[in-house]
Amino acid sequence: MNIDGKALAQELRDTLTIEVKKLKDERNITPGLTVVLVGEDPASQVYVRNKVRQTQEVGMISNKISLPVETPQQALLDQLHVLNNDPTVHGILVQLPLPSHIDEALVIETIAPEKDVDGFHPINSGGLCNGDDGALVPCTPQGCILLAKKHLGDNLSGKHAVVIGRSNIVGKPVALLLLQESCTVTIAHSRTQNLPALCAQADILVAAVGRPEMVKSEWVKPGATVIDVGINRIPTEDGKGRLVGDVDYADVQPVAGAITPVPGGVGPMTIACLLKNTLEAARRFG
Ligand code: NAD
Repeated sequence: MNIDGKALAQELRDTLTIEVKKLKDERNITPGLTVVLVGEDPASQVYVRNKVRQTQEVGMISNKISLPVETPQQALLDQLHVLNNDPTVHGILVQLPLPSHIDEALVIETIAPEKDVDGFHPINSGGLCNGDDGALVPCTPQGCILLAKKHLGDNLSGKHAVVIGRSNIVGKPVALLLLQESCTVTIAHSRTQNLPALCAQADILVAAVGRPEMVKSEWVKPGATVIDVGINRIPTEDGKGRLVGDVDYADVQPVAGAITPVPGGVGPMTIACLLKNTLEAARRFG
């Protein structure tokens, strides 16, 4: 069976729309999200456009700051200080990747942790590691957990989760969230041995690798819940290309208990969780 990320994201946005209105009515706070884009990377422009549209749709204030690709690092940091001190801005997101002359880690550390709705600031990643409820949690990993729960129910306790990928953006935080849910968690990566056999032990398999259709049916325990984070464009005869995940959907779908499709699985949940974080930031600090 499919876990429909599009539908779940819509459900979440519907709830957020109600909560945003409540915050306005009760405390006169309208959550505000500012997205900063440096340069003109086409994929980033699409992501930012979608974020802006969906922010407005749930009734939040959306601002976009577009800076030219040659923007000096210091100018970006100065801009972030202004946003940090602006009480109408509750969430700040700097669209990654940044041009190579800008130090990404420094930029992330410059965002006020309480406005870091991407959840990448060390204060937030440290908080997640320590199981601190106050930490803002990265959006894609949050989406993965909500999708797994959509199929399995809220109690994931005792399940064996295997996460393929150990990036700071997806692999590590999703593993920490699964641990918080009392799963037994294995983190696999490019040096892991016997990966197919390891994956075949998983009740919940999360693939966050960036390798098209790497996970095959023999890697999947019958009935397992498969969350496919990968977004890969593969060539097609018409030259347009096609998006596929890290899981070979056609091969795995008959074996899995449930699987997220690509597109329409994890992707839509990421922006919905960004809006959830922005509401949370506005509630706490507005
Ligand atoms: P990354 O390149 O930072 O990390 C990839 C990880 O995969 C690494 O930890 C590496 O050790 C591991 N890996 C690489 N080759 C492997 C192999 N052969 N066997 C086992 N492990 C291997 O990537 P990322 O930023 O974590 O993103 C992963 C994928 O998720 C990409 O396709 C990306 O586009 C996608 N993504 C999707 C969303 C979304 O909203 N759906 C968000 C972020 C990333």
